[in-house]
Amino acid sequence: MGYSAEVIKRAKARLAQEKLDRELENRQHLALAYEKVPRIRQIDRQLQQTMLEATRIAFTPGGNVVEAMEQAKQANLSLQEERARLAAQHFEEGFLDDGPICPRCGGEGYIGTSMCQCLQELCRQEQKKELTVLSGGQESFSQFRLDFYPDRIDPDLGVNIRAVMERTFQVCRKYAQNFSAKSGNLLFSGDTGLGKTFLSACIARTVADSGYSVVYETAGHLFAALERAKFGGSDDQRREVGKYTACDLLIVDDLGTEMPSQFVTSALYTLINDRILSGKATIISTNLNTEDLAERYNPQIASRLRGNFLRLAFLGDDIRVKKNWGL
Ligand SMILES: [Zn+2]
Repeated sequence: MGYSAEVIKRAKARLAQEKLDRELENRQHLALAYEKVPRIRQIDRQLQQTMLEATRIAFTPGGNVVEAMEQAKQANLSLQEERARLAAQHFEEGFLDDGPICPRCGGEGYIGTSMCQCLQELCRQEQKKELTVLSGGQESFSQFRLDFYPDRIDPDLGVNIRAVMERTFQVCRKYAQNFSAKSGNLLFSGDTGLGKTFLSACIARTVADSGYSVVYETAGHLFAALERAKFGGSDDQRREVGKYTACDLLIVDDLGTEMPSQFVTSALYTLINDRILSGKATIISTNLNTEDLAERYNPQIASRLRGNFLRLAFLGDDIRVKKNWGL
């Protein structure tokens, strides 16, 4: 999964902290057990001594190594059984298990060069936190209300508004539920207040829940961050914008509301192109139509959006939708 360096850094820090917490907890449990059941401390000492004794015999010339090891093993086995019995008697299950935080990687986060499931899960959670901050954390497909969209023909387009919105909704839901690296791109097109941001957030949450890295950003924020990183940004700022190209799904909200500039046009073209070439999915929402896009940016960008993005229309009466959704 294409998690950004920042998300991985936070996930690693959490894993390291959890590892420390676990080690501390193990020590505290042991101290408590020694205090409450002194026999457990005796057993632990005896276990250590039998091991030392066996090692000593093994290194003594002429000693019977095999027999000594066998004796030590038997002694240890019965001591361990007694220890387990005492633990079960006095403490809840698992209280004296002193295993690492993750049995697969021992709490290191990696097995060889591949990321362990435990660190992947923390990355997924960290990635999702970013989304929750940006979208308020409430949106779900089940809250989408088709009845907020009028069941009548749009006079300009000659199509039934609710029927168009039903298709838009179904496409979005399927896109989110079946998301994969090959899901392709969507262009949400329509006036403000018709549910573009809401459905973007639903998709973001569902896709992030499946373990993909999702970045959700308004166009204004996105271009400001890219500009800062390009012109005299710190290392952190430059690393931070890496997420826009690295993430599995990038959602750019409100394209066309940012301050227009030469930089914006060229950054937008590079971003769209890079993501298309690396086969990564992008969702762009805008209230501009294709001609507006060509005029505001350039014909190449408009052509990329036309040729590589599935366009979904958002129609309706924004005042009614806004009012009913309490926006
Ligand atoms: Zn692990």
